[in-house]
Amino acid sequence: MKINHPVTVVLTFDDACKSHLENVAPLLKQYGFGATFFICRFKDEWRAKHEKHLLNAAEIRQLADMGFEIGNHTWNHPGLQQLSATECETEIARLDQFLNDAEVPPPVSFAYPGGPYAENAAPSLATRFPGARTTEQRPWRPDADDPMRIPAIPIQGDDEQLFFRAVEQAGPGNVVVLVFHGVPDPVHERVSTPPALFAGYLQYLHRNHYRVASMKEILRENGLTGK
Ligand SMILES: [Zn+2]
Repeated sequence: MKINHPVTVVLTFDDACKSHLENVAPLLKQYGFGATFFICRFKDEWRAKHEKHLLNAAEIRQLADMGFEIGNHTWNHPGLQQLSATECETEIARLDQFLNDAEVPPPVSFAYPGGPYAENAAPSLATRFPGARTTEQRPWRPDADDPMRIPAIPIQGDDEQLFFRAVEQAGPGNVVVLVFHGVPDPVHERVSTPPALFAGYLQYLHRNHYRVASMKEILRENGLTGK
């Protein structure tokens, strides 16, 4: 069957894994796919311990220079529900400053650490970011959904059906946002995606004429970025 209309999938990659630059970005480029990389830095001690598996400032800049969107995922990756407004603000501002120092364009998209929507943080986030991603597992309807509560579907591990079940939900008006962590992810094994499976996913999207974009592109074309 021939697909006449483009169905859209948004690819997002969380937690600043080195494998995003080494394994993911070259493949995305090969297919001309867009994507959003959500950056966080974690605690200094933890970051120092896992340094070889995490992106540094220059590598994050490299992803931005390749044309990918860089999003804010807070500095320390805390559950925002438990934080005061000031603590949320510090988490977000510190990461924005880090990206600014790395000469990365100011982030347009935000992703809630751990995934759940944080009602307490949303109003202040909305003054800074046109869109914020949760992990509420359903397709995103940009014309109807609250842009501060964008649903997305996590894909991880060896179960390819997670991916196929997710992308088959894409259609007119329904954008499927996928969440990946490392490809592979040596520091968070539970959410790791094997590189061979990932390569197969991109090949599938390409072969079936999916349009693959960043969050920012979809926000912009729905008039949600203000520019
Ligand atoms: Zn995360």
